[in-house]
Amino acid sequence: MSKHFDVAVIGGGAGGLFYTTIGAQARKDLSFAVIEKNQRVGKKLLATGNGRCNLTNIYANKENYHSSFAPFVEDVLKLCPSQKVLDVFKDFGLLTRADDFGRVYPKSNQASSVLDVLRFNCEKENVSFFCENKVISVAKNKGKFTITTDKEIFTSDKVVFATGGAAAPKAGGDRSGCDILRSLGHSITKLSPALCPVQVKSQYLKTLKGIRIQGEVSLLLNSKEVAAEYGEIQFTENAISGICVFNLSQYIEKGKDYTLRLKLMNEYSFGEISEILSNNRKVFANLDAENLFAGIFHKRIAQVLLKTAKISFDKKVSDITDKELKSLAGLINAFDFEVLGLGDFNTAQVTKGGVKGDEVIPDTLESKKIKGLYIIGETLDCNGDCGGYNLQFAFATAYLAAQNLYD
Ligand SMILES: Cc1cc2nc3c(=O)[nH]c(=O)nc-3n(C[C@H](O)[C@H](O)[C@H](O)COP(=O)(O)OP(=O)(O)OC[C@H]3O[C@@H](n4cnc5c(N)ncnc54)[C@H](O)[C@@H]3O)c2cc1C
Repeated sequence: MSKHFDVAVIGGGAGGLFYTTIGAQARKDLSFAVIEKNQRVGKKLLATGNGRCNLTNIYANKENYHSSFAPFVEDVLKLCPSQKVLDVFKDFGLLTRADDFGRVYPKSNQASSVLDVLRFNCEKENVSFFCENKVISVAKNKGKFTITTDKEIFTSDKVVFATGGAAAPKAGGDRSGCDILRSLGHSITKLSPALCPVQVKSQYLKTLKGIRIQGEVSLLLNSKEVAAEYGEIQFTENAISGICVFNLSQYIEKGKDYTLRLKLMNEYSFGEISEILSNNRKVFANLDAENLFAGIFHKRIAQVLLKTAKISFDKKVSDITDKELKSLAGLINAFDFEVLGLGDFNTAQVTKGGVKGDEVIPDTLESKKIKGLYIIGETLDCNGDCGGYNLQFAFATAYLAAQNLYD
């Protein structure tokens, strides 16, 4: 025997839980089911913001979003700006605080607070949770949806796809939501990892591994700048990482020739860097070459700069020539790494690609192909920058879809 609900929400993640909490509070006359494949709901939510959950950004605007839904993001943010998300959370009992970059975290600094208020509010409204139930197909017949999981069958009048993307498979990310929507006639743009480290070719990565430095990174396509970001740059065994690099990863397409260019002293011009090095040549004159950078860089960065400029470690600082000094200043100003590709979905925070933006009504998130079916959050072809923008998108689309329950 199948279980019937007025509304079936597939996916108990950020968007699915926010939708259900709003809907169940507003429409006590309707029955809600959350169908989740993991053992528990909200597993990915708990991992967000390094366990602190950067739930929105007060400066969120359309520039922070990419892909085919991006043209509609301005309307979504107008109808449900970050302040609206925060007001709703406050009504649910969650207090928050913003940092200097507009990134909002729960006051407790714990992602579990965000999950708890959503879960507890749902439980208060008698929402039914079905965990360890992976939805494998959805069909619509005579105005009703039939939702088949690997365990049981549900029927519903409305169905909400809140299945997220393929990123972070250990936290529940997979393609199944998109696959089911494709079988229902939706077009899915190519799914690829985004907000992930960028793999580069360099003989020096082993030396640089583990070092973090503040600087500017730009992404070049055939030597032309695509985008640039400032922030903490991290070196790993085979990649360059850090929030600024994550943001640039969103522009990288397979089969094209990209370069990551690091400006290690972005606050200074080439001329100023040359002057600083010139001064250091006098200050540290009697020491070995790598001490030219004493007081500026990590020792291993100094070694890599010298190696790249083909300057022997045995040389005295005072013996570094003007030509060598210029070449070092040039490297500090533009240290290039050939891009090999991106990390996989295991290293990605979000998915680039999903349901094409023009296949849903932007202010209700209802499918243009199947009445009564809604698609919210990362299942849509829309990825945001790091900084709370992806959760803002999941919450805002959930909010708008829930408003449609009043009609
Ligand atoms: C490590 C990490 C850190 C992050 N930090 C931040 C951050 O601080 N701020 C920010 O804005 N964004 C962050 N993100 C991105 C953010 O978590 C996602 O964009 C957001 O969770 C998307 O919400 P969603 O509701 O669309 O999908 P999800 O939250 O991923 O929820 C989808 C749910 O659907 C379930 N599901 C999938 N398929 C099925 C199926 N067939 N049947 C049943 N259930 C299914 C999944 O198990 C999952 O629980 C982070 C992501 C990661 C991986």
